Amino acid sequence: MRSVNGTFEALGTTIFAVMSQLANEQGAINLGQGAPDDEGPEDLRRKAADAVIKGPNQYPPMMGVPELLKAVAAHDNRFYDLGVDAGSEVMVTAGATEALAASLMALLEPGDEAIVIEPAYDSYKPVIEAMGAKAVCVQLKAPEWKLDEEALARAFSDKTKLLVFNSPMNPTGRVFTKNELEAIAALVRKHDAYVICDEVYEHLIYQGHAHVPLMTLPGMRERCVKIGSAGKTFSLTGWKIGYITACEKLMGVIAKAHQFITFTIPPAFQYAVAWGLEQDDSYYKALAADLEKKRDLLTAGLREAGFDVIPAEGTYFVTTDIRALGYKGTDFEFCRELTTETKVAAIPISAFYAPESENVPETLIRFCFCKQPAALEEAAKRLKRVGQKVA
Ligand code: PMP
Ligand code: GLN
Repeated sequence: MRSVNGTFEALGTTIFAVMSQLANEQGAINLGQGAPDDEGPEDLRRKAADAVIKGPNQYPPMMGVPELLKAVAAHDNRFYDLGVDAGSEVMVTAGATEALAASLMALLEPGDEAIVIEPAYDSYKPVIEAMGAKAVCVQLKAPEWKLDEEALARAFSDKTKLLVFNSPMNPTGRVFTKNELEAIAALVRKHDAYVICDEVYEHLIYQGHAHVPLMTLPGMRERCVKIGSAGKTFSLTGWKIGYITACEKLMGVIAKAHQFITFTIPPAFQYAVAWGLEQDDSYYKALAADLEKKRDLLTAGLREAGFDVIPAEGTYFVTTDIRALGYKGTDFEFCRELTTETKVAAIPISAFYAPESENVPETLIRFCFCKQPAALEEAAKRLKRVGQKVA
């Protein structure tokens, strides 16, 4: 038989699907995959349901329905003062996942290098490699997960086409500081590169931290592709509505990739998300405040159970070091046992590293806290037993 695409053939199934399947089989509380355990805001669901009945339900415009294009531009202008033009600088995609794939496909050519900061969300590297480009990884180190500016500088070369930058960051929970952003921007300008800014958690930010899009820094407006996700901003991960903001030149070519990946996105969800994005600031504040309470609840439970918790500044996730528990196996083995025996699912952080990467940590675990308080409390109770058992 003829060979198939080597990049995809070599891949396993994404860790999120693997752990969710195991959690379901085991009847475990799923603190693995990042998804809320409720149905999401009812007002948005009603808007989508009404839009399905009222229509239109045929192909919407390729870039997105005008209402959502305008709402994304208005959102970017309201929160970040980006001066976005809805007609030429916004596009709607099938979740941030498609936005990332379309952007990487549009910008990369064989022989290019793309810098990825590890631990990294698992969709970046396979798409980079499928384009014939090389992923160059730069690592952050727990527990601070701070950007190592010198290591980043060393990763750039004259082949560097782009950097994929995720802030607030999955899985570390970090919200990068202005100083870190400035260091990145300086290198990107110096090397005439682009940045794909994965900002799906832009509104999931906790007290003491602020999200600053890299695109707002001097000289970065034309170099950055900003990606958002209604899945995160409206706690409706199954809707798969993403959006891209980029200057007209970059958007033109990203749209060419999108036209042959999905072409268009279901209109009813687009109308509902447009309505959602126009909600006043109290919606966004309530979202972050609710998640902050859940973060605090799970953090306290994990600490009480003996886990070493690295505080989360944003996102759905908190990371922990299991060394303090005296566990002898790997993070993968720990997560498997935790799911089958303790009936709590979590994600091993080593899944966020390339197979060929060195110095991959094996004692770090990611827990997701966007769950009902009762589920978090029950999970904490079960986790306490793990602390006692290992210790
Ligand atoms: N980027 C990051 C960092 C994520 O955690 C996720 C997870 N959902 C995505 C992209 C994909 O988002 P979406 O569900 O909108 O495709
Ligand atoms: N982003 C989510 C997470 O990190 C999962 C998305 C997925 O399942 N691909 O858990």
